[in-house]
Amino acid sequence: MIKLIDKLLNGECFVVTSHCNPDGDSIGSITGLCMALMKLKKKVFIAMDDAVPSNLEFLMKPSKVAALEGDMSGEYSLIALDCGDYKRLCCREDIKTGASSIINIDHHVSNDCFGDVNYVDKEASSTSEIVYYILKQISKEKKLDIIDADIASSLYTGLITDTGNFMYSNAGADSFNMACEIIKIGIDKDSIVKNLFQNNSFSRMKLLGDALNTLSLHGDNIATIELTQEMFRRHNVESNSTEGIINYARDIENVEIAALFKEKAENDIRVSLRSKEYADVNVIAQKFGGGGHVRAAGCTIADTIENAKHLVLSEIKKALKR
Ligand code: AMP
Ligand code: MN
Ligand code: MN
Repeated sequence: MIKLIDKLLNGECFVVTSHCNPDGDSIGSITGLCMALMKLKKKVFIAMDDAVPSNLEFLMKPSKVAALEGDMSGEYSLIALDCGDYKRLCCREDIKTGASSIINIDHHVSNDCFGDVNYVDKEASSTSEIVYYILKQISKEKKLDIIDADIASSLYTGLITDTGNFMYSNAGADSFNMACEIIKIGIDKDSIVKNLFQNNSFSRMKLLGDALNTLSLHGDNIATIELTQEMFRRHNVESNSTEGIINYARDIENVEIAALFKEKAENDIRVSLRSKEYADVNVIAQKFGGGGHVRAAGCTIADTIENAKHLVLSEIKKALKR
């Protein structure tokens, strides 16, 4: 952590990015860290090519968060948050190659340490949790209370996104400790929960209905669910607002592995994988060039939904036989 903190304190300009299809942990850690770096008088830009899902827009308060991509003509370090591999970074190639160094802060087991400085804690529940403890250390060194209610709210968003509001096994003592300290700072945790989990549009729920109609069991411990282009069109819902739909498949009794197949475009299938107790879905996702965590992983397959389902199911069955 010392090397990372030196790098953050000694740098002048930072461009911050995360993985494509951003989630609460990517946006929460980006906004939390950016606000903190701005308090430390750093020049900070956010570079994200994918849109922020509507349920996370509340974090991107323009007056508080750093500028989106702007005048980055001088030297800068690129900070990659919550992203396991270089090719999944959600910013333009020239922004990646133009950086004087890459700082990789993450918690994916599949992280291949692509940065010049790597701070990868595979035990951490979320990148937001890592950022929280980094900022605490900086506060101590600088004798400055950096973590205010806005920063805390961003990091809390990442924490509860990745732990399923403390439901998953990745919520450990450090996560509960962080939550306890953050709540004492004085955040509106109920409104964050409402924004994240209780603010679905009516059309998204109708889309969920269509998705649930495709729910199938394969044996008694594998469940799949599908989302097609046609469904997104019918309900006029963005294909990035599908967070949580896979949980309905995972949460069925006896199911160990759940897979969601999302047709983002023709022959562009985004696969999400979840396991409940023992299976390692990261290993399965890596077979298709993806990755993630033991209990949650993903990959993309350039084929039809039918073929992608066939390919993934055969790997899932192999994994469960082992
Ligand atoms: P998702 O199913 O998209 O919510 O992803 C589940 C977890 O796996 C998240 O932590 C993702 O960041 C990670 N993940 C998804 N796709 C990939 C990929 N292609 N490479 C590495 N990690 C991934
Ligand atoms: Mn993420
Ligand atoms: Mn994460």
